[in-house]
Amino acid sequence: MAEPDSVTVAVVAGEEAALVVDPGSTPEQGRALRAEAEELTGLPVRGAVATHAHSDHAFGLAAFDDLTTWGHEGLAEALRAEPARTAARRLGLDPAALAAPNRPFALAAGVDLGGRWVELAHLGEGHTTSDVVVVVADAGVVLVGDLLESAGPPWWGEDSAPDAWPATLDAVLGLLAGGRVRALPGHGPALSFSDALLQRGQVAAVAGEIERLLVAGTPVEQAAAQGSWPFPVEHVAAGVPTGYRRLTERGVRPSRDLPITPVRRPD
Ligand SMILES: [Zn+2]
Repeated sequence: MAEPDSVTVAVVAGEEAALVVDPGSTPEQGRALRAEAEELTGLPVRGAVATHAHSDHAFGLAAFDDLTTWGHEGLAEALRAEPARTAARRLGLDPAALAAPNRPFALAAGVDLGGRWVELAHLGEGHTTSDVVVVVADAGVVLVGDLLESAGPPWWGEDSAPDAWPATLDAVLGLLAGGRVRALPGHGPALSFSDALLQRGQVAAVAGEIERLLVAGTPVEQAAAQGSWPFPVEHVAAGVPTGYRRLTERGVRPSRDLPITPVRRPD
């Protein structure tokens, strides 16, 4: 676990090499984690993967830039965007010191650690538009980043995709094989299958509530306060305007009609 955000850092060891997942909040922390991973496993580190662009998961990537670093292709843009630059300054970092993955991928990538094959997959948008999960099939573990949370409620930000998140979690649940595979979130201990299923339902409830508020004509600036949420509103609020924007782009509009369409009898 690494501070300041109690993020789960994982080291996946094969027979020949190790992989660091979510390599810390700063390049300096990334360097320390890299040394620790080598000491812990007695293996060379092959590289690192970031599950998404948030500071606590991706800002240590620069410490691995001489190796292979993986992440979704959207990370480069996200790490250049103002929210990431602001987060960097808050951590006392020069935003130019952040490194995007040098092996970005759109859908999937594989890492051979010698006797252990690790799959990296973008199953869809959710907590951010660039989430990836790390599947260590033979160990029965999927590292899910912040798509699921167990230390507290999940978090919706300006970069979230509230409408897409439930379907992405359906794909995650599919990987959990009814509970035979554990989901290890970015914050907190592994989730049971039933807890993951419950959280999928709650994430879908947030998506449904955002759409209901929009269709009901609730002004976006009042939507978070007027909504009924399964989590404390501060976890959801920043994602509501984004949810409105994404739905509007898909053609969802406020409706003045009653939800029941009158049936016309044939004459
Ligand atoms: Zn996050």
